[in-house]
Amino acid sequence: MRVAIIGAGPGGLCMGKRLIDEGVEDFVILENSDGVGGTWNLNRYPGCECDVPSALYSFSFDFKADWSKPYGTQPEILAYMRSFASKFGLLPHCRFGTQVTRAVWQGGSWTLTLASGATVSADIVVSAIGMFNDLAWPDIAGLYDFRGTMFHSARWDWDHPLAGERVAVIGSAASAVQFVPEIVKTAGQVHLFQRTANWVLPKIDTPYTPEQLEAFRADPTPLLVFRAETESNMNKGMTFADPAANAERERAGLAAIDVVADPEVRRKLRPTHPYGCKRPLFSNLYYPAFNRPNLELVTEPIERVTTDAVVTADGTVRRVDTVIVATGFATTKYLSAIDVVGRDGRGIDDAWRDGAQAYLGVTTSGFPNLFMLYGPNTNNGSILTMIEAQVEHVILHLRRLRESGAGWVDVLPEAMGRYNAEVQAAIAGVDVWQFGCNGYYRSPGGRVVTQWPYSMAEFQARTGVVDADAFELGPVV
Ligand SMILES: Cc1cc2nc3c(=O)[nH]c(=O)nc-3n(C[C@H](O)[C@H](O)[C@H](O)COP(=O)(O)OP(=O)(O)OC[C@H]3O[C@@H](n4cnc5c(N)ncnc54)[C@H](O)[C@@H]3O)c2cc1C
Repeated sequence: MRVAIIGAGPGGLCMGKRLIDEGVEDFVILENSDGVGGTWNLNRYPGCECDVPSALYSFSFDFKADWSKPYGTQPEILAYMRSFASKFGLLPHCRFGTQVTRAVWQGGSWTLTLASGATVSADIVVSAIGMFNDLAWPDIAGLYDFRGTMFHSARWDWDHPLAGERVAVIGSAASAVQFVPEIVKTAGQVHLFQRTANWVLPKIDTPYTPEQLEAFRADPTPLLVFRAETESNMNKGMTFADPAANAERERAGLAAIDVVADPEVRRKLRPTHPYGCKRPLFSNLYYPAFNRPNLELVTEPIERVTTDAVVTADGTVRRVDTVIVATGFATTKYLSAIDVVGRDGRGIDDAWRDGAQAYLGVTTSGFPNLFMLYGPNTNNGSILTMIEAQVEHVILHLRRLRESGAGWVDVLPEAMGRYNAEVQAAIAGVDVWQFGCNGYYRSPGGRVVTQWPYSMAEFQARTGVVDADAFELGPVV
């Protein structure tokens, strides 16, 4: 069984490790970038860190007890992923600087075409390309005429110091909330252009003392207990279906804004959508940063960017040296970011013309032996927990193929249709997702294609079995 994994982020690494456990050694991990770690290798902006408690951000079979603080930092997460890759013998399987551009199912196997033009053949393809790799750039007149320094926050330019500079930050969501409090420490003036105020909640994030870390390393039991408690709380809270819990979080979010001295800035920071409608954010540093004299919150829409300034609709011209684009990612393409051709020559773009869909987020009808990790409608809670469940589901399929002697497996369209109808009905029942603010959750057609509407525990339960009636097995060709 030859397996090709696309992507060496947490998903691809977890898959590789579990293949080795299963005795499958003939696999390759094709990775576009220069190393392992995925999100954590590519996103290196200052202040980048986990926004779920790190107790839940290591794999269950490789628990990390000694994060420096409850919400571990990007360098720590990257170091964890690197050590995971070497500890479990994954590096010899990795081919870095290798972008997959096309995948074609023909004659009972897959042929992957690489950007170099070379091809790789595989019986099984596991896509672990993540959800946050396609950078979103705003459609602002004149943006590309800007003659100063400009970069996207997901590809931070560390060669360009911001000390003393006038900086425009476009976007005020997950990344900006983490890096703005850092850059205001050295920049001369930061103008933060906000379109929508987000919910930013406080978190308990006191760094652990060296004594505590030593104790965790010696006996991780207290942290394992904390992990179990965190998982249980997230299972209850992350579905956003409980109005009382949502209201409680709104109170906490509004109270956190009180730290901002200027009443006008406080007003502008107050979210106008219900908690949970968009991804909630967590920071103890964001709101206090607005008390610095060199951070300006701008809510007037940007009209255009010139060679040296950002101009807002009210005609104000703010001259800047650097523009940092913090407008996130295009998240709803999933595997259609690659030119994938399945049974009967059907392209995934065509199969997904109403938006990406899959069965349990892992298999999609018409594309045999193709498994996705962090696929459609699997975004919720700790993504490592969700990925681990998906990897185990793939392993169940591979065992079934081996034991049955079949050559391929494909999810039946009716089973996938029934499953998605149920998931979409559950999504429709989450009141806070019905407001028009949850941009990155929705495909261009308007369907919520990213979110898992139930708990992580429910996902683990469903992916923990293979419903034989939902799948078609085919012969070895
Ligand atoms: C800034 C940021 C913070 C986040 N914080 C959290 C958090 O706190 N908690 C949480 O649970 N999740 C968080 N996430 C989500 C995070 O993406 C997941 O937790 C996790 O990294 C997903 O792992 P993955 O392997 O599926 O994808 P990724 O980590 O995105 O890795 C995908 C890999 O595939 C490679 N790739 C993509 N396309 C191709 C191709 N065509 N050919 C070859 N290689 C390709 C990419 O280069 C990348 O290395 C965050 C995301 C971002 C961007």
